[in-house]
Amino acid sequence: MPELPLTGGCLCGGVRFEVTEPPVSAVYCHCTRCQRRTGTAAAVSARLAPGSLRILSGEELVASYVPEDGFAKDFCSACGGALWSRHPEDPDLVSVRFGAFDGDPGIRPSARQFVAYAAPWEAIPDDGLPRYPERRPA
Ligand SMILES: [Zn+2]
Ligand SMILES: [Zn+2]
Repeated sequence: MPELPLTGGCLCGGVRFEVTEPPVSAVYCHCTRCQRRTGTAAAVSARLAPGSLRILSGEELVASYVPEDGFAKDFCSACGGALWSRHPEDPDLVSVRFGAFDGDPGIRPSARQFVAYAAPWEAIPDDGLPRYPERRPA
């Protein structure tokens, strides 16, 4: 396990954050929304322990896309870098994008969800992880 806190930031470095406890789970998401959001075939995020995310700098740069029926997607308004998703009402539900971490977050994705919507142009890796057509069951 890497040393805590984990650290991370956006592409331009304007937003910096730390995570003070080990993330609790991680999943690859193949949904259409993640494809549109990232421009890639899948996204991977780490669900955090409640209250373990601290923004160190650039809080004023953090912008959010809040779909009507899902988690808010927070990103840096200066560079567009994806940061984390969060439940619009429950501040305990936050998932940091793996790519925003500086180093190894210490956790590995344990499943692939929304594979029914996987991009036709990239095969899902044969990594043995369980695949769920829709959201991974809780
Ligand atoms: Zn930025
Ligand atoms: Zn998704």
